[in-house]
Amino acid sequence: MGKQGCVYLIGAGPGDIGLVTAKGYQYLQQAEVVLYDRLVNPLLLEYASPQAEFIYCGKMPKKHTLRQEVINDLLVQHGCLEGKKVVRLKGGDPSVFGRVGEEAEALEQASVPYEIVPGITAGIGAAAYAGVPVTHREHSLSFAVITGHDKSPSGEPLIDWHALAKGIDTIAFYMGIGNLPHIADQLISHGRSADTPVLLIQWGTTGKQRTLQGSLANIVGKAKTAQFKNPAIILVGEVSEIKKGESWFESKPLFSKHLLLGRASDEPSAIGQHLRDQGAEVFEFPRMQLKKNLLKETDIPTDKDLLFLSPASVDVFFASLQANKMDIRHIQGDFYGVSSKTVKALASYHCVGKEMSERDPHASTLVILGDSEGIDREKQRYSFVFDQDFIATHTYTRVPQTLQTFRRLQEEERIETIIFPNARAVKTVTESFQECGESPENISMYAQVICYGEKSKQAAVKAGYSVDKVLSEPTEKALFEALLQKEIPFAAAFS
Ligand code: SAH
Repeated sequence: MGKQGCVYLIGAGPGDIGLVTAKGYQYLQQAEVVLYDRLVNPLLLEYASPQAEFIYCGKMPKKHTLRQEVINDLLVQHGCLEGKKVVRLKGGDPSVFGRVGEEAEALEQASVPYEIVPGITAGIGAAAYAGVPVTHREHSLSFAVITGHDKSPSGEPLIDWHALAKGIDTIAFYMGIGNLPHIADQLISHGRSADTPVLLIQWGTTGKQRTLQGSLANIVGKAKTAQFKNPAIILVGEVSEIKKGESWFESKPLFSKHLLLGRASDEPSAIGQHLRDQGAEVFEFPRMQLKKNLLKETDIPTDKDLLFLSPASVDVFFASLQANKMDIRHIQGDFYGVSSKTVKALASYHCVGKEMSERDPHASTLVILGDSEGIDREKQRYSFVFDQDFIATHTYTRVPQTLQTFRRLQEEERIETIIFPNARAVKTVTESFQECGESPENISMYAQVICYGEKSKQAAVKAGYSVDKVLSEPTEKALFEALLQKEIPFAAAFS
């Protein structure tokens, strides 16, 4: 019998990548195939396994790109015939206007095992991020989730409007912006007061969140003026008046900032998380994967001094010792690290790492260990010195899906600041942009470019970017200050 597959129908939450359940996240990391919808935040896919196959099932309004039957067939094919772990990621909760019923039925018919992992639905999540709880002991004792659009020829949902208008305190309409005039009319004509407060939340829980408050009487005009579009929730009911000014989410210092943080390795960046904590959406780009080149016993230098270029090279070196069952006491040379991080990595293996400044320049041959690109650079740097050896301990490759994530964010206009922490990041980011058909000159037209220092600035200018800011010092604090500085309006900059 072949491998037994399983399909996980998972709710990705309304937008904020932190709003997926722990179980959903775990399955996503293990998935071999991921099928995802348009409303799934592309940034969430950056947490899937680098080897996973990704299939976009995006439906654009009125333009279905993958028919539901085709999606069902794909789930069955991968889950059953190929015996894979398949994740089907859906925006919000899969059971709320998510067609999970149809997919589960198809899987059941084909006897493919499946699980449903619930998620946070937009009606609740977007309202909470706008500062409104959907129930409240004083304002709302009942809550309903209603479609604002259906399969009927007019697209106007066939609903018991009387029961809804009179019986439910808070109503969240999904997919309803196109039918907003109809919804407001029906509620008023079936007895709901025209003064009933209404709150619209577009792209809730994301950096693009926008809200609009009004009443059943005036919300149609207001929404038209403000050009509100789907995805948006129409929240009708007294409780929506709880929102006064900016919500807890909208008042975070970096709310609505969309940052692309350039990177040159696979190491998670602490700063990326700090920026997220302050409300920014952060895309660490490009996503890289580390491939270890474990050393053979005969390639492990035992009597020379070793210089490590990064913590990863330290890890691979010690993994190689272990793989060859070699005792650390075989290594007689001294250990050196290029940075304090690398020296710390050595310390974690109970080895004392020294700074290169401490080394006698006339000492015996030095062996330099680092990633393949770093080694190439060092070879050039030391080309006039003879007694150096070089070992590439690992190679970084780009995870293919990261380019797709970039394209999706670009389409959704969610790239507005590019941060280059170092010159290497300029190189990896620029190569990745070019693969996507984007040039430094063009991206500088719509995104501001921030460099950590002079070296990264020079590299960025040379690559063709217009650099907007260079940090006063290469620290997180200086980066926050730069991000909080008021932008010069585009027109004013040219007047
Ligand atoms: N299964 C999803 C709903 C899918 S229907 C859920 O449980 O949330 C798609 C509709 O959901 C959109 O038209 C919009 O009305 C709503 N929606 C989804 N994400 C949203 C978001 N981030 N902000 C506001 N509305 C959203």
